[in-house]
Amino acid sequence: MSENEIKQLKALNIKKLREKVKDIRAQLSEEERNAITYSKNFTLSLSNYCVNQCGYCYYNYKNPKQNDKDNLVLLSNEQIEIFIQKALQFNCKEALIMSGERPGSFLEVKKDLEKRNYSNFIEFVKNICTYLLDLNILPHINLGFLTYDEMKELKKFNASMGLMLESTSMKLFNKGGVHEHSPGKMSKKRVQHIRNAGKLKIPFTTGLLVGIGENIEDIIEDLHLIKNIHNKYGHIQEVIIQNFVKKEGIPYQPKKPIAIDDILRIIGIARIILENEIAIQIPPNLITGFEKNFIDMGVDDFGGISPFTLDYINPEKIWPQIDDLNKICKDKGYILKERLPIYNKFINKEGFCSENIKKIINNINLDD
Ligand code: SF4
Repeated sequence: MSENEIKQLKALNIKKLREKVKDIRAQLSEEERNAITYSKNFTLSLSNYCVNQCGYCYYNYKNPKQNDKDNLVLLSNEQIEIFIQKALQFNCKEALIMSGERPGSFLEVKKDLEKRNYSNFIEFVKNICTYLLDLNILPHINLGFLTYDEMKELKKFNASMGLMLESTSMKLFNKGGVHEHSPGKMSKKRVQHIRNAGKLKIPFTTGLLVGIGENIEDIIEDLHLIKNIHNKYGHIQEVIIQNFVKKEGIPYQPKKPIAIDDILRIIGIARIILENEIAIQIPPNLITGFEKNFIDMGVDDFGGISPFTLDYINPEKIWPQIDDLNKICKDKGYILKERLPIYNKFINKEGFCSENIKKIINNINLDD
């Protein structure tokens, strides 16, 4: 993206952005334009062990939690079963399976895996996914950086996968920057992961974490990078615009949170760059009261909402009630619709959805 293009996008005020977004959304059919989606999911947080130490992270095992039990070497089989049984009661269609990055490289995790007869962390994940699929729940993994071969193997058991690009800004690796101690956040690795997902035809979720020391130019360049990767492989189904939420006990303590107007501008710019090809998601538990403004700026997805598990990254931020979101959308003339972790357009797109996943999808009734 040229400096001039960046300059032009930066110069757009909220009113201008809203007008441009309106023109872009007008290219859709009325049904598409009026739909705001979400996925009824639950989270299996498998391990807080992580090779990185991001300055904004609360989840990492090195951060003491209020409840010691929250820092897990590995989620026990009994806990997994309890979560899954609850998910069935609530009729969750998606299991978000998350962990820190490369937990299997830690001795504590390895020992626990051995005790349970798993040769490595990926085998453990595969086993959980197989069990979920047997119960008609679609897994979506976000485990940090994975190799090409690991993703290839896990594709057989997942409807989609995710990895946040967060930010490729190199200044975040400087002394005192949020990625100073996070080699896994080097853009080369993240981009390689997202490209590999494309090569493997994996429906993919990525996104930006904003308010962590980047600037608007970095954000514009990262959105453009995502769009370029998508143009080549056609696999990115959604981009999350996630704002950093300050909390005690973590190293990164900015004086002010990112302003709502800045978030609105980022969403508008994202819609201009991503056009109508990629959904824009805003986590509805992180900022409340501005949902209508977000929709006006091009947000068309509220992501995974759990009826009983926490947002483990921001556990103090409770998920909204679906009924409340429904009302907000309705008041604005939109229809809130449940979706699967794989967007409809990828189910029959050549090579993106394996036959075993299609079979499960056929067993799922979104109206339940
Ligand atoms: S944000 Fe993710 S990669 Fe960074 S320390 Fe936390 S768990 Fe690890």
